[in-house]
Amino acid sequence: MRILVINSGSSSIKYKLFDMPAARLVSKGLVDHIGEKGSKFSNHYAGLKIILDEIKLVQAVGHRVVHGAEKFKKPVIVDQNVIKGIKKCCSIAPLHNPANLSGILACQKLLPGIKQVAVFDTAFHQSLPENAFIYGLPYEYYQKLGIRKYGFHGTSHEYVALEASRILKKPLNKLKLISCHLGNGCSITAIDKGKSVDTSMGFTPLEGLVMGTRCGDVDPALITHIMHKKKFDTKQMDRVLNKESGLKGVSGISNDMRLLEEKAIAGNKRARLAVDIFVYRIRKYIGAYVAVLCELDALIFTAGIGENQAGIREKICRGLFGCLGKKPKILVIPTNEELMIARQAYKLIGGN
Ligand code: ADP
Repeated sequence: MRILVINSGSSSIKYKLFDMPAARLVSKGLVDHIGEKGSKFSNHYAGLKIILDEIKLVQAVGHRVVHGAEKFKKPVIVDQNVIKGIKKCCSIAPLHNPANLSGILACQKLLPGIKQVAVFDTAFHQSLPENAFIYGLPYEYYQKLGIRKYGFHGTSHEYVALEASRILKKPLNKLKLISCHLGNGCSITAIDKGKSVDTSMGFTPLEGLVMGTRCGDVDPALITHIMHKKKFDTKQMDRVLNKESGLKGVSGISNDMRLLEEKAIAGNKRARLAVDIFVYRIRKYIGAYVAVLCELDALIFTAGIGENQAGIREKICRGLFGCLGKKPKILVIPTNEELMIARQAYKLIGGN
């Protein structure tokens, strides 16, 4: 079965075509600058049309959808109700869900009768216990506004956990894992018997680790303080927290960890500070998640930094597990969110 996996962002569509169940990658590509001035793609429909002119014989489509809130705890076959549900989640994921939805609607028009499956970044974390997902805010904010920790990168964390179980030759329900997805966006998840029990990203992907351009955890009182001091409106504040902070903000150089590692080694103090803050925050979270899990079989590194930067992994792990009776395995596992989406779509549509 040929399954097309679509990752539809605000101005781009990335795709991979898989032959399932062999999991053979048939083709992949990217259309970008969608909706931008002067672009030949005025919308997602136009972008997808070009992709589908190139590839033939699509038998099913799997879509990455960022936010499924509490409604979507697992992948689902797209129908009118699912579309309504994804639309509802747009208010809490205004940057991502509208673009994901545009991809789904464009596919419905361009591939009539072909089954589509929505796979949610938040779904894997729906197993979090209440004590981990409720914030210390008035409880009615959760009840009325849906304010809680949702967590993201779920497809990646689930994929690497399954891979870890295969590599360690131990069933997932016998493993305690911590997975570190360290790319431009970074998150860390505690996985107990295959279930996410805590994760660093929160209501939005801004919480938790220091990332490429996102600040991660800060004192919440700082937001109003900075807005007052700098005379920022909410849009300006949001931009600083999401686009001008993290590695880029601290170093004043770049969000690219390869460059920062190079500069730090060459003696640049701000680059070294950015790397140190990045590493320190990850170590703190690992410590916290060891306390959540009580034991640890393996620590997993994935995504751009996690897969490729041995120096950063070494800094994170140095002396970290001396206090544990049994040292965990350290695994580097390349993530493959698209394959995970193809597998889930295949499983749902009738394959095994
Ligand atoms: P995202 O998918 O979140 O945009 P990536 O997983 O591609 O991010 O990770 C990007 C980060 O990984 C950057 O900080 C980059 O410097 C770092 N990195 C290190 N080595 C590589 C590599 N070989 N390819 C891509 N990114 C790399």
